Amino acid sequence: MPLNDHIKIQLATFVQDKCFLHSGDLSMSFKTRIRSGNMAIWIVCALMVLALSGGVSFAAEFPDVILHDGKIVTVNSGFEIAQAIALKGERIQAVGSNDDILKLAGPDTKQISLGGKTVLPGLIDSHVHATGAAVYEFDHEIPPLETIDDVLKYVQKRAEILEDGQWIIMNQVFITRLRDQRFPNRQELDSVAPNNPVYFRTGPDAALNSMALKLNGIDKDFKITDGLPGKIEMDPTTGEPTGVIRAAGRFIKTESSEKSPSQEERMAQLEKLLQDYNSVGITSIVQRSAGESDVTMFQALKDQGKLTCRTFLCWGVSPDGEWSKVAEQIQKAADHPAHAYDNLLWLRGVKVFLDGGMLTGSAWMQKPWGVSTIYSITDPEYRGVLNIQPDRMYEIAKHCLERDLQITAHS
Ligand SMILES: [Zn+2]
Repeated sequence: MPLNDHIKIQLATFVQDKCFLHSGDLSMSFKTRIRSGNMAIWIVCALMVLALSGGVSFAAEFPDVILHDGKIVTVNSGFEIAQAIALKGERIQAVGSNDDILKLAGPDTKQISLGGKTVLPGLIDSHVHATGAAVYEFDHEIPPLETIDDVLKYVQKRAEILEDGQWIIMNQVFITRLRDQRFPNRQELDSVAPNNPVYFRTGPDAALNSMALKLNGIDKDFKITDGLPGKIEMDPTTGEPTGVIRAAGRFIKTESSEKSPSQEERMAQLEKLLQDYNSVGITSIVQRSAGESDVTMFQALKDQGKLTCRTFLCWGVSPDGEWSKVAEQIQKAADHPAHAYDNLLWLRGVKVFLDGGMLTGSAWMQKPWGVSTIYSITDPEYRGVLNIQPDRMYEIAKHCLERDLQITAHS
């Protein structure tokens, strides 16, 4: 990243009474510090690099920027708070007292008084689905959904806008975050949208209304016969589906009634989301379940100098079926050009879905979950949904690690 851009990012991320620095810079500084304690931690990595490259004039060692009169949260082992910090290029040059750091200034060093503001290391969000989240509200704004009533009002409003028969699809409204702490039930969804199929998705699980069940042939006789995991909840008294399905999204064919963004629009939304992350201090992310189109978008942002978060990607691998097909997917990640180390964008590993969701009642447990109204569990023996058998999981992990791919699993 060109120096000026880097500084711009640092300065652009001042928020309220805080400002944030790129986390990688600080972690680098801790690894390379030679002296610490007494509020003075001298970071010499930049100087060492310059010295090793030889023949560099003294002027090159002046910091580009000094931030002083602040609270520099070092997050070192003593959690020391320093007053000032000197930056050179993409690296922290020194951290210490105002006196010690201001002494380092050269004629061109920009000196910024923080007036007591705090500087934090950049935060890392280790689990995002940024490309999806960026376009979550592309078609229309989704109001805060805090109760079942909020959910039903939203569904009703959508039903009024849409034609009969058009799908109403909700994504990632976690039931444990609703004050009611349960799925909306089939009858409730029917009452507000009798003429539209409704698909309330939450993690790997979902609640459907009667029309959505009917359109997909899910009735009291429905059985999962493809040998893959999943569960259709049935009402123990009537024998009819309750509308709740677990890890069974493959049986639901939908047609989106929302406008879908073009590639340029997706990129623009992603750029905005990354800036949102920056605005609350997040400077590094790990995008889980990335595919080719995700890598392309991040790569394009990087090429345009618009990738404002350090990004690691985890390649999504489907674990089912013939082993050769699974191995092929892992090999694709290993051979991908983005798997070559890059400080800003790196295809670092692989993600698989090991089991269902803890927040939705389908995580695989050693003992039965127990009958539960929150999770809509009616079977006392139900233990959740396991997607990958231990032998297969072992092979996947081994295959990944042999190719320098971190293995991560949703569990
Ligand atoms: Zn995830």
